[in-house]
Amino acid sequence: MSKYSERKARAAEPPTRGKGTICIQGGYTPKVGEARVLPIFQSTTYKYEDLDQVERLFALKEAGNKYTRTGNPTVAALESKLTELEGGVGAVALASGQAANLLAITNIANAGDHIVAASTVYGGTYTLLARTLPRYGIETTFVDPEAKTKDLRGAFRPNTKLIIGETIGNPGLGILDFDKFATLAREFDVPFIVDNTLATPYLCTPFQFGANIITHSTTKYADGHATSLGGVVIDGGNYDWTNGKFPDLTRPDETYANTNYIEKFGRAAYIAKGRAQYLRDFGACLSPFNAFLINLGLETLHLRMPRHSENALALAEFLSQHPKVNWVVYPGLKGNPNRARIRKYFLHNAASGVLTFGIKGNSQAARKFVAALKVAALVVHIGDARTSVLHPATSTHSQLSPKQQLSAGITPDMIRVSVGIEDAADIIADFDQALRSISR
Ligand code: PLP
Repeated sequence: MSKYSERKARAAEPPTRGKGTICIQGGYTPKVGEARVLPIFQSTTYKYEDLDQVERLFALKEAGNKYTRTGNPTVAALESKLTELEGGVGAVALASGQAANLLAITNIANAGDHIVAASTVYGGTYTLLARTLPRYGIETTFVDPEAKTKDLRGAFRPNTKLIIGETIGNPGLGILDFDKFATLAREFDVPFIVDNTLATPYLCTPFQFGANIITHSTTKYADGHATSLGGVVIDGGNYDWTNGKFPDLTRPDETYANTNYIEKFGRAAYIAKGRAQYLRDFGACLSPFNAFLINLGLETLHLRMPRHSENALALAEFLSQHPKVNWVVYPGLKGNPNRARIRKYFLHNAASGVLTFGIKGNSQAARKFVAALKVAALVVHIGDARTSVLHPATSTHSQLSPKQQLSAGITPDMIRVSVGIEDAADIIADFDQALRSISR
């Protein structure tokens, strides 16, 4: 076994320690005399023994850093922590969540291929699939994730290469029916990709429920403090790529000394190819400094997620009784149809920190409400420690047609709230005064 595959094989071992310990200590174990805190290796380049070693590195015959575009020790520590948190066999960190979803898809879908996607995915993922990838010959059929299995079967084609959905759809907030999607993925023998951004591995670990690849915008809850763009793709090592549909993984890659990814990397073939080809050619790597900050954020993920969830539930309960509010969607709220899936697939019975509500009145009411907020702020973001609000129809989803907006679960009266970890009483008082200001 090469050093590289030994490292990957070790990463595939099931986690033996608690998530809180992984959040704090995962990915980096200093030796005596080394920095206790993960250092920032702010270097583009690395020192080599000799030309022979460089040759081995470039032929993927030896593990090691060549150039920061394809690997860096600070970034590797973050990748390793996220791999352990999700229970995967390897990960590649990227410059943004958008870059992560692009890698996850284009690592296995080529021109002429087809994708099945939940119509409720984040707006950026939707436009990537609906508008941009078709220009490169990759087509997507969007499906209602709540449709019956027998109706979803019709979306698959002989050239379908993957099915993709989000654990918690942003911003529709539907919880993915993992059993249904995993069953379809197995039936049509395609990998199942899950964007786990809103749930985070603290609340849900999709590999347990049949996912094969997990992506995150680490910009959100992983960082948690709105400082750093980032993304990650994590390989579950649980898909058989040798079924004849993915020749790029099973035949020699002439751009890497005829490496056969399956032969060389085994269960970690997908992620090894993603790093080797995608980071080299597309270059959307994560900077070491952002990796440091995202890693620092992850150190408190296990403390923040319960608090985000408690505060969101308290605000959802308050809003659902408010006379200026038409409706509230929060998967943890009593009466929400997704509550059973929270119990089935989520840990700690917590539903994360994002909720949506419909404000009574015209768009003028929404404008007045947002302008009156003092604790919460209007921000194009979720997952921050600070409470944030957004009007999706005029911002993140404004590129979609009204029909596409509706199929993504966006209505013109919708306000999306990313509930922070301030004191719940202060958040509620702020929303109350801002809602009252509408009629003034
Ligand atoms: N996936 C989800 C679920 C998101 O909410 C977002 C951004 O909001 C992305 C992917 C894209 O991530 P980024 O903004 O880091 O590119």
